[in-house]
Amino acid sequence: MSLECEHGQLARACNICEYEREIAELTARVEELEAALAEERQRTRLSEAVIRENEELTKENMRLTQSRDEWKRIAMEAKARVEDLLQDMREIGVAE
Ligand SMILES: [Zn+2]
Repeated sequence: MSLECEHGQLARACNICEYEREIAELTARVEELEAALAEERQRTRLSEAVIRENEELTKENMRLTQSRDEWKRIAMEAKARVEDLLQDMREIGVAE
């Protein structure tokens, strides 16, 4: 290993060599952080998509529950109507 660096100085004492090493380290660190940030953004997008999907499912579930309750109500009304008719028929002696 040569004692003199490409800047014409003693390699161990060269400020430019030191800066270049620091810049290379910082550049690598910045790339690492950018990659981590991109990954985090992707994760955030995914969890936002999951949250939106969950909200849609909740709304759909509410709609289905409402329509089920509606059908239940209609069925109960029909049943009550049949009971009324049977009662009327019993009163006039057509049914037991
Ligand atoms: Zn140098």
